[in-house]
Amino acid sequence: MNRLAVLRSPALVSALAEEIRRTATRPWTIMEVCGGQTHAIARYGLEELLPDGLELVHGPGCPVCVTSAATVDRAARLAALPGVVLATFGDMVRVPGSEGDLFLARARGAAVRVVASPLDAVRMAAEDPSQTVVFFGVGFETTAPAVALAVRQAAELGLSNFAVLVALVRVPPALEAILSGPGNRVRAFLAAGHVCTVMGLEEYAPIAARHRVPIVATGFEPVDILAGVLAALRQLEAGEARVENAYARAVGQRGNAAARSLVLEVFEPCDRDWRGIGLLRGGGFRLRGPYRAFDAEERFDLPAEAPRESGECIAGLVLQGIKKPHECPAFGVRCTPDRPLGAPMVSNEGACAAYYRYGRTHV
Ligand code: SF4
Repeated sequence: MNRLAVLRSPALVSALAEEIRRTATRPWTIMEVCGGQTHAIARYGLEELLPDGLELVHGPGCPVCVTSAATVDRAARLAALPGVVLATFGDMVRVPGSEGDLFLARARGAAVRVVASPLDAVRMAAEDPSQTVVFFGVGFETTAPAVALAVRQAAELGLSNFAVLVALVRVPPALEAILSGPGNRVRAFLAAGHVCTVMGLEEYAPIAARHRVPIVATGFEPVDILAGVLAALRQLEAGEARVENAYARAVGQRGNAAARSLVLEVFEPCDRDWRGIGLLRGGGFRLRGPYRAFDAEERFDLPAEAPRESGECIAGLVLQGIKKPHECPAFGVRCTPDRPLGAPMVSNEGACAAYYRYGRTHV
């Protein structure tokens, strides 16, 4: 049996679910942080395998979802400037800003190009010095190394027509915010395995200790997720609160040394506004001093206007695990993947898109 078949093996899934049912003695709420995990849970119906009272709630780990409307607006304004091309990942094109999405901005004449990698944007800048290419740098710690590499490459090539609209976000401050929120029900986290692959586990230890919550690095296949749930549950039942690694095939204690050092060479933590959650201290990355010349917000004078968002969208509550997507009155009615009101219905990692795609309207 190949590795993927093992990680989706019905026999292993059943055995883990049985062990979870044997272990749980009271109600607990566990949050899976990453939207990729949310999609796997919905796709494979993993919640149905859990005992009554053991609830999974969905976290903010969808970078497209937490990119603020104000940032989307800035991207649209940049793309409309003469001589500027905005290069972006495809997911961002349909995320609503105040005056529609980047798709609409392109239809109105703005220069928006979809790229597969930040390095594609550097290549576009190198090939055509007559245009300034601004890469829309959205993502978590997983994407930060690729953006950092692009900035360093642009610096090495001496490109003055390349810049980045930096919208990178960091996970640990979001966990702190969720645990400190007034409606918090989360008693343990399944941390996003790919973020831990880059950054390691050390940033999570102070959070686990301060808030008395288990934090378990977890992968994305059914066996991974149930193994993460079981590890978190065992800690909860034993009254423990440690950082634990249930994704050892990909995650090391200190992460990926080369990727981490590249990120920390090019970026430094900064405060960042998360859509639906608000300003998080240390919740993002910005370019460090030597690389600040590539910061699109410093290079272009963009007016700061208050964004307008759909009054119906409860994405902030969904992203903090306070509400489930189907509890939103607009879900599946006025908000669908074809006509999204909020980013969680757009993104491949959005919880609302997962519920819609896999037909979840309960739990
Ligand atoms: S269903 Fe749509 S409107 Fe409701 S929270 Fe999700 S994205 Fe927002």
